[in-house]
Amino acid sequence: MTAPAWLFTHAAVLDPETATVSGDRRVLVVDGVVSEVGGDDVDFSGARRVDLAGRTLMPGLIDAHVHVTAATADLSALPRLPWSFTTLHAAAELRAMLARGVTSARDCGGADHGLVMALEQGLVTGPRLFHAGKALSQTGGHGDVRQPGDQSRHDPYCCPDFGRICDGVSEVRRAARDELRKGATHLKAMLSGGAASPTDRIDSTQFSGEELDAIVEEARAADRYVAGHAYTPRAIRRGLEHGIRTIEHGNFLDDDTAPRFAEHDAFLVPTLVTYDALARDGAAAGMPPASIAKILEVRDDGFRGLETAHRHGVPIALGTDLLGSLQSQQLHELTLRREVQSPADVLRSATTVGAALLRRRGELGTVAPGAHADLLVVDGNPLDDLAVLTRRGPVAVWRAGELVSGAVDALG
Ligand SMILES: [Zn+2]
Repeated sequence: MTAPAWLFTHAAVLDPETATVSGDRRVLVVDGVVSEVGGDDVDFSGARRVDLAGRTLMPGLIDAHVHVTAATADLSALPRLPWSFTTLHAAAELRAMLARGVTSARDCGGADHGLVMALEQGLVTGPRLFHAGKALSQTGGHGDVRQPGDQSRHDPYCCPDFGRICDGVSEVRRAARDELRKGATHLKAMLSGGAASPTDRIDSTQFSGEELDAIVEEARAADRYVAGHAYTPRAIRRGLEHGIRTIEHGNFLDDDTAPRFAEHDAFLVPTLVTYDALARDGAAAGMPPASIAKILEVRDDGFRGLETAHRHGVPIALGTDLLGSLQSQQLHELTLRREVQSPADVLRSATTVGAALLRRRGELGTVAPGAHADLLVVDGNPLDDLAVLTRRGPVAVWRAGELVSGAVDALG
């Protein structure tokens, strides 16, 4: 099935890279790809014409840290939920993301090849999904959701858990190869303690150097990379030294550690909104009190970490890491970033930097010939005021040249 051709007229085309808007442009989309951006000479007889009347046409957003199968914020309860429930939760969440303007999402633990198949076959609508499979964690690490009294053995195939436990070089190799076999586009490794895990400390480091080397070696052998969950400078530095390409969260990033990102060609993916949302609504979403106390410990540092990264020119992608019912607050991440960065910086994080992180520069995160037609129409200019995007939301959303949210009739 080929997507219909579209000709957008009177479009104000937003280029996040240069932070400019070009008025009165025509944009032609053929076969799901932007084929031309230009003036009145751009035309195509078979295309459906949409007069944008000066509205902004911009690339769809890229969220580089989601958990679409996390149907509750109580991660210990996740393994006891039926697959059917978590799958339907994911389907609803994917559809909602698209309506919010997120046209690419990188899942950092939980999503699997089945969701990718369902998206490809049109059983569900959603963003392009890049997934890690299950996140790799050591025993007692951030992916180990067993309570201290729990004596059960963890089975990596058991249930809709977001992580799998592996210890020792041969086990982490097997786990890495297994997730790659199942179609993972990247691997996720837990490098430090976390807020939502019941038995670890945030300042712990996780996995031995040999284990990290093995995970990175397996990812590189498959031409993939590793995303690492890390909070402290010690955990971040260790991750970068062992070849982790994207650091997730990074709340305690300091001035000594930030320059190392450039040395290692690495990205930072802050996730401020998850702490903000959990601090406010975590209890109602199912998070236990001990975890909420850990959230409060890291929340304010997240802004300092972002400020440090920004000052050192670290490539910063957009991430959210929201769990359960809190996923509806996804676009609030852009608003929180605005406390530290300009709208242009925030939009670049959500588009071109995300595309570079996904190794899809020029294909995603831009409105230019050759890019996928993942497009948003917005009333107003988000470079002046992000609220036209975050509060009102996009008027219409296209993914791969298909209109997937909103109605073009309402644009006239
Ligand atoms: Zn996460």
